[in-house]
Amino acid sequence: RTVFIPKEVDQAEPRVAASPDTVKRMKALGLDVVVESGAGTASRIPDAEFEKAGASIGSAGDAGRADIILKVRRPTSDEISGYRSGTVVIAIMDPYDRQDAVDAMGEAGLSAFAMEFMPRITRAQVMDVLSSQANLAGYQAVVDAAAVYDRALPMMMTAAGTVPAAKVFVMGAGVAGLQAIATARRLGAVVTATDVRPAAKEQVASLGAKFVAVEDEEFKAAETAGGYAKEMSKAYQDKQAALVAEHIAKQDIVITTALIPGRPAPKLVSAAMVAAMKPGSVIVDLAVERGGNVEGAKPGEAVTNDNGVTIVGYNNVPGRIAASASLLYARNLFAFLETLIDKNTRDLAIDRDDELVKATLLTHEGQVVHPNFTRPVV
Ligand code: NAD
Repeated sequence: RTVFIPKEVDQAEPRVAASPDTVKRMKALGLDVVVESGAGTASRIPDAEFEKAGASIGSAGDAGRADIILKVRRPTSDEISGYRSGTVVIAIMDPYDRQDAVDAMGEAGLSAFAMEFMPRITRAQVMDVLSSQANLAGYQAVVDAAAVYDRALPMMMTAAGTVPAAKVFVMGAGVAGLQAIATARRLGAVVTATDVRPAAKEQVASLGAKFVAVEDEEFKAAETAGGYAKEMSKAYQDKQAALVAEHIAKQDIVITTALIPGRPAPKLVSAAMVAAMKPGSVIVDLAVERGGNVEGAKPGEAVTNDNGVTIVGYNNVPGRIAASASLLYARNLFAFLETLIDKNTRDLAIDRDDELVKATLLTHEGQVVHPNFTRPVV
């Protein structure tokens, strides 16, 4: 069986779905690996390193002879037209609101797997692309904030005077938020954080940050069985906004990471709150691609308002740290691919009863099979 790793067609996507390490592992599984020339360039992996690991270097057209295609982003309709029916495609499929794209993969006969639907169970931790990428995004958010902050983060006592420590407030203490807290702490900032899930409180404290939240009855029940946040009531959101408004006015850097699966990101920072911040303050909105947590955040831009507050809304933040992000992403994909290969026959064996397959398989044998995307029969 042949695995193909294309160069991503989206110019804004520097990541690649394989690394020299995963190429070696795929070869050891008995797979042939073809990497499109230049696929790793933006992630600092030259063709020669893929070759040394055992891959052959090809071109985009090699997709048509592959049995398995590993990608970062969902294939475009152009790409799909070059794939054979029956090809396994594994990527971040971003399928919500793109039923047309899901249908197109079904019609093309692809077995399309959405990595972001991997269940958060122990066995699948090594395959969890949301965690591996969010972790790096949380780190990068602090680095991006520091780059535009124009002041030092740690307190510095010098002969010429003292630079005060920056106050950093992290909103949403999931994977990205916790890494942002840890990174800001390492840089010497004074860190506070908030979340709607009670489990976050202890995790925030264990990183040496102070937890700030409305801890009412609704808060105590705000976590789903899957460990995700629920959308909060209007009454809770109002109480949260009042608390945040008061706290945020005293902060130098705010990093927002709040997401709710399958829903637009909750609005946590209003224009009035932004206006109340000190000149020179920085907000980084990691949720900007999902509608944003911050009013006035613009996808792909850093905007400074009249008050001198900069709102950073960079897209694809894991892609800003692409060399690290690709290594982890490639490893996530390999770990999943390994479960689809029969160790004895070295052939593809998709077990439709496996809970990982059930959760991630969008289309198979000409049909849309994922329950969230099958249309009711009329
Ligand atoms: P996420 O990216 O979906 O959301 C980021 C954070 O925003 C979450 O902590 C969420 O509670 C928070 N949030 C949502 N609405 C908010 C609001 N109105 N105000 C403030 N915060 C709000 O979350 P995530 O990073 O994917 O993590 C979700 C949970 O899953 C965490 O408990 C995490 O530890 C857990 N997790 C488990 C595994 C595993 O067991 N394999 C892997 C990764 C994450």
